[in-house]
Amino acid sequence: MSRENYEVVIGLEVHAELSTKTKIFCSCPTEFGGEPNTHCCPICMALPGTLPVLNEKVLEYAVKAGLAMNCEIEQNSKNDRKNYFYPDLPKSYQISQFDRPLCKKGVIEVEDENGEKTNIRITRIHIEEDAGKLNHDDFGGGSLVDLNRAGVPLIEIVSEPDIRSSKEAENYLRKIKSILEYIEVSDCKMQEGSLRADVNVSVRKKGETKLGTRTEMKNMNSFRSIVRGIEYEIDRQIDVIEDGGTVEQETLRWDDVSGRTFSMRDKEDAQDYRYFPDPDLVAIRLSDEYIENIKNNLPELPESRRVRYVEEYNLSQREANLLTASKYLSDLFEATTKKCGNAKAACNWILSDISRLLNEGEKEPNQIPFTSEELSELISLIDKGTISNAIGKKVLEELFKNPKAPSKIIEEKGWIQISDEGAILEVVQKVLQENPQSVQDYKGGKDKALGFLVGQAMKQTKGKANPQMLNKMFVEEMNKM
Ligand code: ADP
Ligand code: ZN
Ligand code: MG
Repeated sequence: MSRENYEVVIGLEVHAELSTKTKIFCSCPTEFGGEPNTHCCPICMALPGTLPVLNEKVLEYAVKAGLAMNCEIEQNSKNDRKNYFYPDLPKSYQISQFDRPLCKKGVIEVEDENGEKTNIRITRIHIEEDAGKLNHDDFGGGSLVDLNRAGVPLIEIVSEPDIRSSKEAENYLRKIKSILEYIEVSDCKMQEGSLRADVNVSVRKKGETKLGTRTEMKNMNSFRSIVRGIEYEIDRQIDVIEDGGTVEQETLRWDDVSGRTFSMRDKEDAQDYRYFPDPDLVAIRLSDEYIENIKNNLPELPESRRVRYVEEYNLSQREANLLTASKYLSDLFEATTKKCGNAKAACNWILSDISRLLNEGEKEPNQIPFTSEELSELISLIDKGTISNAIGKKVLEELFKNPKAPSKIIEEKGWIQISDEGAILEVVQKVLQENPQSVQDYKGGKDKALGFLVGQAMKQTKGKANPQMLNKMFVEEMNKM
């Protein structure tokens, strides 16, 4: 198999649940979870004789998303019925948008595989309702439907087939997530399915201008499985072609456990859905003022924060980039800095230890369990010399496990730094006695020996001794010898 002879083509259909308080066509709550079928009413259960009414917030949020992704806004839009039967969809049709989506022709900038900037075009963004959820009943042997999610508003963001690698697909989705978080229209909790993507993949021989046949992996909701799924499909499709076969257009399910895709069904076409305008809903007309007003009230986006961080806080381009990629990290940074006044330290904690612990726990920034209050106290405790940097790291791990005020943590754990001269002198003298060779080395001009002695003292005090004081006292004591 020869991957370098092929070009990869990827297009994403991203579904984001909007964080409006109520559903798209009724006043039920959109809140995640809850006892099955408790966030429902006759409208979202599709009882006969009920009529939907469009929630205006849904339009506002979708237009916000469109503007933030540089789309044209369609002033004459409408809702259509997309007909298909599946038991989690009680009406037997989904209210969606067909030929007049609310937003079209957008573009966002992402980094490609090599870190170069590239533009990914957005075909359209439309509004639609989410379906319910089927739960298998292991005892009764059937499936139980939970309609709490039915009618939760979604936007679907469809990209052009402009993406060229799994890394670029990941970057694209991260960018979408970051924008949606910044404009506060979706909580983007992938683990709760608030953000999920259908991933379309094809390959073609390099130089070929016609697109290859694509397959579509449905409902992917982690960055890791998206990257793995794409890599798997690229290899599989190239194998098929190299063996003289043709790739079938089909809908696939990615399985994380076996690390492969399974066929779900043949691809359906638009005509299979028998779209038509929903006669129960009025057409959507947006005035210039309405759109202008939303445009003027868009919050600060990542680009502008990035510039500000370099100027205002003296951060490097790289630091500003990393922090602003996530609204949560960037908000945490700003709130922490405001409280403790140490921007450099706030940035370092977030980009090194906090990011590492998030990675290790496979967590997203919005799952950070502690507040800016707690992080800023941690930084202040180090700045004041109450604890060492090394203890600070242990406090941070505690904050992830069992968040509470850092001063409480160090008190309970007995981690307060030893800054008492008498206590430090005692340790210094003991270490000097135990390591006569190092003393000689130091006196003979080997500065490294000092580091070793400080290290020994740190070990004996379990990292609690004040390192500046240790350094100073070792030098003083050895000069006396
Ligand atoms: P649907 O999947 O609902 O039929 P579309 O035909 O509009 O919708 O395509 C959906 C997605 O598939 C888009 O993101 C598009 O960029 C992508 N796509 C279309 N053709 C290809 C292809 N040959 N290879 C990879 N992606 C493709
Ligand atoms: Zn309802
Ligand atoms: Mg599709």
